[in-house]
Amino acid sequence: MLAASFKRTKIVATIGPASSSPQILEELMLAGVNMFRLNFAHGTHEEHGEAIKIARSLSAKHKKPVAVLADIQGPKIRVGTLPGDGLPFVRGNVVRFEFGADFEATGIIPVQHDVSKYLKKGERVFLRDGQVQIEVEKIEKHLIVGKVLAPGLVYSNQGMNLPDTDLGGEILTSKDISDINYAASQGVDYIGYSFVQTAQDILNLRDRLKKLKCDAKIIAKIETAAAVVNLEEIVVATDVIMVARGDLAIETNPESVPAAQRRMIELGKLHRKPVIVATQMLESMIQSTQPSRAEVSDVATAVIEGTDAVMLSGETAMGLFPVEAVKMMKRIILYAEREEREVIARQSIKYNGSHERINAVSAAAVVLADQLPAKVIIAETSSGRTARNISALRPSVPIIMVTHYERVYFQMAIIWGGKSYLVKTMEGATDHVMQQLKSAGNIISGDTAVVASGNQPGVTGGTNKVEINICD
Ligand code: ATP
Ligand code: MG
Repeated sequence: MLAASFKRTKIVATIGPASSSPQILEELMLAGVNMFRLNFAHGTHEEHGEAIKIARSLSAKHKKPVAVLADIQGPKIRVGTLPGDGLPFVRGNVVRFEFGADFEATGIIPVQHDVSKYLKKGERVFLRDGQVQIEVEKIEKHLIVGKVLAPGLVYSNQGMNLPDTDLGGEILTSKDISDINYAASQGVDYIGYSFVQTAQDILNLRDRLKKLKCDAKIIAKIETAAAVVNLEEIVVATDVIMVARGDLAIETNPESVPAAQRRMIELGKLHRKPVIVATQMLESMIQSTQPSRAEVSDVATAVIEGTDAVMLSGETAMGLFPVEAVKMMKRIILYAEREEREVIARQSIKYNGSHERINAVSAAAVVLADQLPAKVIIAETSSGRTARNISALRPSVPIIMVTHYERVYFQMAIIWGGKSYLVKTMEGATDHVMQQLKSAGNIISGDTAVVASGNQPGVTGGTNKVEINICD
């Protein structure tokens, strides 16, 4: 058997000042992180490049793939530089904002875009994922004057949402384009795309990546009202979906987010696209070693609903307890997966997409593994598609995902229930991996594996075979 500590649901951790040292990155990885997220809204290219280098060498050292996600900020408006330990917004106080202001010299809060021409009296400004709320009282030339309705602490470069304001315009900024070029040059595994509105946004990014010869997969961050309306076409166009609840709650409304989250998870399964649930999952662990009851329940609920991965943001990027937050998340995942196994397994097997044969072969593998019963399912996969299809059926045994493409090996690190293996060649790959599993003590002589593969090893989309393999 694979270790009792094998978690099906994967963990994404955002890297920032609290976690970018080689030691903390290693601790995060060993505590259970499956993908490091680099938020390009913060930090420099050099800092992100350094983190990628460390992540790759840690993956090699521990023979454990941790994927790398470059999250591109999109057209989000942000504040500029504020005092290092944050700026408190006090309820009832009057605050002033201006494009490019110098806070230290003037006490005016800098904004990275001139939004004074769009904002009107009475409209709301949200900061820190909606925690801090301000109502605009007046606009004087480029100066925005407002009153604090809900208080909180705001840090440099944090986002600003203007849900009442019509900004119009293009979704990729020039900073985004330079960030995408950089991320492509560093060979990241995933690109996160913020404020997606339509499937066309995804197709445009895919075109751009193709021109850059970049094989990163796309994560569509669902955080606008338009994206919720166009959800299914976006799910079809993208590779992965992220439920970006912080901005989504503000751009739509907070009470609609739990239902939207469930719908995204269901659509993800239907189309065999992994889903990541993000934002404020263990938010109080930024300051505290213990999460709130509500946060524990939130993580467990996402797992029980069948998400593929859960994400940490400020908890690991700038919190006091980044490693503890990952350990806590893993405990919650393992308990929920063990106690709610039946509920998770019962979830959707309907299928809406193309590649019918892969889907049928995958379903056969899962049924066979259940009936025998088998100890593992082995998926020989060159694009990762077979592995994703099997995963969407939520088999009770681990999916050993074997590929000879290094990029796919890393990308599969976030597939639910999966364990990714890299081989030199697909010829004899299953026998090779069975030996590895045996010498690691995961399976013993006489154990059964169900193997899904293709007649021509290494050919994408060629999966057409299910076999029973007994460990010798
Ligand atoms: P997004 O809207 O994309 O989630 P965010 O500003 O909320 O952006 P998170 O990725 O959620 O950012 O991270 C939480 C906080 O951690 C950030 O607001 C920032 O204060 C800090 N942070 C994250 N990454 C970095 C970094 N690379 N350098 C400095 N601070 C960072
Ligand atoms: Mg955030």
